[in-house]
Amino acid sequence: MRLTDYCYAVTGLGYVSPWCVNAGFVVGNEQTLVVDTGGNRLAAQTIHGYACAARPGNKLRAINTEKHFDHIGGNGYFSECGIDVWGHAGIARTPDEFQAEIAEFNDAIPDPVRRARNESQAFFYQTTLLSPNCKIQNDTIFDLGGRSVEILLTPGHTQTNISVWVPEDGVLFVGDCVIREYLPNLDAGSSEDWQQWLESLDRIEQLKPEFIVGGHGPVSRGDEIPAAIDSVRKVLSESIARGFSPTSVRQA
Ligand SMILES: [Zn+2]
Repeated sequence: MRLTDYCYAVTGLGYVSPWCVNAGFVVGNEQTLVVDTGGNRLAAQTIHGYACAARPGNKLRAINTEKHFDHIGGNGYFSECGIDVWGHAGIARTPDEFQAEIAEFNDAIPDPVRRARNESQAFFYQTTLLSPNCKIQNDTIFDLGGRSVEILLTPGHTQTNISVWVPEDGVLFVGDCVIREYLPNLDAGSSEDWQQWLESLDRIEQLKPEFIVGGHGPVSRGDEIPAAIDSVRKVLSESIARGFSPTSVRQA
């Protein structure tokens, strides 16, 4: 989906039901920055294909908005293509964690025959685990040639969350800091993380973005943005007051 002349969202990539995953890219005159690599190799090939088609001569680089596998699953494919993958210095996933993710996918398959066939392997076809090879510790700026993008630390959902802000286009790629239609996932953190998440929301609100591309759900534009931020803020405030997340076991 073209948002501006320089910014694109790649929406609706596959993940475990009911989740789909978003990625995107920013096209400068010399470089194209891919934001998130999808949940698997097949998603990565789709993102890579669109990013290359938008400006064929550009050098590519990729960045992960966080450590969860739905945002980094395509890193191995990008790396095979000779593309550097940037991400928060705290992203260091292990092979055991990746195998546990695949097993969890398989356990969630409703059909027993498909479960017995280990069809989660089809989802993760030729997907290899790779943590970012270029580390981000602080806010930084990437110059893509004619377009500067700001890489902002926006912790809360995890300690590794970052956002990509393109000020000249008013486009903010925010990962799971703001998602639409789904309940935000608070289960990766504690009350202290949720408090930080609220601060991150204040920070991104002050940017006054015209588009927000979240990690999941529809892209938010214009008037939809305050409501999208407020709905996450409300869930966080209620969870901090209550002491547990809306999806925690205690609620069941
Ligand atoms: Zn996510």
